[in-house]
Amino acid sequence: MVIVLKNTATKQQVNELVSWLEGYSVKTNLVQGVHSNIIGLIGDTVHIDIEAIEANDCVEAVRRVQEPYKNANRKFHPDNTVLDIGGRLIGGSKTQIIAGPCSVESEKQLMETAIACKQAGATMLRGGAFKPRTSPYSFQGMREEGIQLLLKAKKETGLPIVTEIMSLAHIDMFAEVDVIQVGARNMQNFELLKALGRCDKPILLKRGLSSTLEELLMSAEYIMSEGNSKVILCERGIRTFEPMTRNTLDISAVALLKQKSHLPIVVDPSHATGLVKLVEPMSLAAVAAGCDGLEIEVHCDPKKALSDGSQQLTPQAFADTMKKIKALAEFMGKPVDDVE
Ligand code: PEP
Ligand code: MN
Repeated sequence: MVIVLKNTATKQQVNELVSWLEGYSVKTNLVQGVHSNIIGLIGDTVHIDIEAIEANDCVEAVRRVQEPYKNANRKFHPDNTVLDIGGRLIGGSKTQIIAGPCSVESEKQLMETAIACKQAGATMLRGGAFKPRTSPYSFQGMREEGIQLLLKAKKETGLPIVTEIMSLAHIDMFAEVDVIQVGARNMQNFELLKALGRCDKPILLKRGLSSTLEELLMSAEYIMSEGNSKVILCERGIRTFEPMTRNTLDISAVALLKQKSHLPIVVDPSHATGLVKLVEPMSLAAVAAGCDGLEIEVHCDPKKALSDGSQQLTPQAFADTMKKIKALAEFMGKPVDDVE
């Protein structure tokens, strides 16, 4: 971290600032330049609040030189993190495909969809039991009953299950869930992140609707700093000025996150675009960019879906798309995991 001092800074102000900084166990290095003086900080600065430094009258500006995240940072953990989710390894040499309906709607809908997803080569099953909807009058999910149905579908298909948590109060219901999803709307629900950091389950952390990549990594850092290092990052599109797609898929995020972090990266082309016709090309783009997995919405009868009907693939469309995903993933040297 570098602190640029104002020309008007007095010796006493600088001395006071330096002794305050040294209280954080960092070394300070005062460099006197021709036009301005700076203080260089050496050591772990993650606990130092930049705004508190800026509040000093003698400070012109503060710049971080290192990223503020440590646990999620590839610099401190050069090897990829590989997570074992019921025997499926994510973050390593295989691509994982999480597929299933937006919402769990009924036993029949879930079972039909889950079996079709498995047949087409999905390696995990998704399904929302708790649904974050824009309108409070829209379908909110089957809640605990939805989780029970997902566990039944897991038993039937052998696919590990991924489902979203919306509140800390529900955490006990997720005891048998394989991967807990944190949705875009909760990416900065820090109390929830901290609680998930104290459990021993993989967390699929989706990028917030208007969040920067650094904010996503800082949210991962929250979970990891509480002890849970099993975090999977998910790019699901961000809000831009473009109305033709539901969100704008940030494909560069995949390659950049791979450089910045050792955590596995999944792309959700369904919520990123909101359009059935874009799910296949964006899935392929994500695989080409080096993702570790995809999360794709599939519904046995999208026309009748209680949520996100316009972006859910039919089982047939998913099976066709899977053929291309498999071929490209193979070419990229990260084949889709082979589930019996
Ligand atoms: C979902 O995956 O069901 C979902 C609601 O996605 P997002 O949080 O990315 O909007
Ligand atoms: Mn959805």
